[in-house]
Amino acid sequence: MSLTLLQHPDARIIDGKAIAQTVLEEVKKEVDDFKAKGIEACLAVVLVGEDPASQVYVRNKVQKAAFVGIRSLEFRFEADLDEHALLEKIDALNADDSVHGILVQLPLPTQINETRVLERIDPKKDVDGFHSENVGGLSQGRDVLTPCTPTGCIRLLKDSLGSDLSGLHAVVIGRSNIVGKPMAALLLKENCTVTVVHSKTRNIGQVCQQADIVVVAVGKPNMVDASYLKADAVVIDVGINRIFENGKTRLVGDVDFEDALPMVSAITPVPGGVGPMTIAYLMKNTLQAVRLQYPNI
Ligand code: NDP
Repeated sequence: MSLTLLQHPDARIIDGKAIAQTVLEEVKKEVDDFKAKGIEACLAVVLVGEDPASQVYVRNKVQKAAFVGIRSLEFRFEADLDEHALLEKIDALNADDSVHGILVQLPLPTQINETRVLERIDPKKDVDGFHSENVGGLSQGRDVLTPCTPTGCIRLLKDSLGSDLSGLHAVVIGRSNIVGKPMAALLLKENCTVTVVHSKTRNIGQVCQQADIVVVAVGKPNMVDASYLKADAVVIDVGINRIFENGKTRLVGDVDFEDALPMVSAITPVPGGVGPMTIAYLMKNTLQAVRLQYPNI
């Protein structure tokens, strides 16, 4: 029986929370294995400014690191920090052998050039997988650090469809650098036939109707409904949208969940689908970074 069947009463609903917990347990064990070899995995998190959402993300990352036994270091700076000072901090973290992963929480204040900062991180410590060396490596199909959200989506797909995704037609809606593009590259690495659609694509619905797998990363509430889907498609909803309804705010994805559910063989809910996988894969990536820094262990 599959993990999903065991953990959710409706077999079609992919329980991202439960799968993320399994991933964290896997990480915990590996962290202990490294500790037994004298290596304490360590993640440095850098936050500039007071953005409330970023504060929450950083807090969650630090909490999950503690859960799996990864040492975390937090570096908080005022919003008016100048770029040079941030680059110096990154240089120091790059040079520190006890730090294995570096994460700079985005977005950064406007006086700081995001690209220059991300490019300064040692690619072997780049747990977000945003450095151009890692982006290029992924596009060549090499085993490099890859962005946490799409990497987590691959795990959700494998837990639902089995480990072999070869030959399946995947449509990715959205072409951002942090989700859509790396998602497409990861699916290609899994031997899927991949189509990427975006805001300029004509007849998106018709393209999606061809897909065995639809990954939606757009940021438009309930954009994809049953009319986009072929029967028994697997749908991964990356979108996180806050909507105001009946006097309350609630989170919804990019997929109209209730409408799509009868059509699909599996679907992620929002919340409780992709979201928890992102942090779980940040922890996995930190371990991957340790391995890259100790290739002979
Ligand atoms: P971006 O805004 O960077 O990219 C959105 C993409 O969607 C663009 O490629 C854009 O096309 C495309 N798009 C916009 N409108 C349409 C449309 N009507 N039809 C087809 N394509 C369209 O967003 P992100 O990739 O950063 O994030 C997407 C969503 O995923 C957001 O809701 C975000 O909050 C969520 N997210 C969730 C994460 C998680 O952990 N669960 C992590 C990261 C993001 P074009 O390029 O042509 O403009």
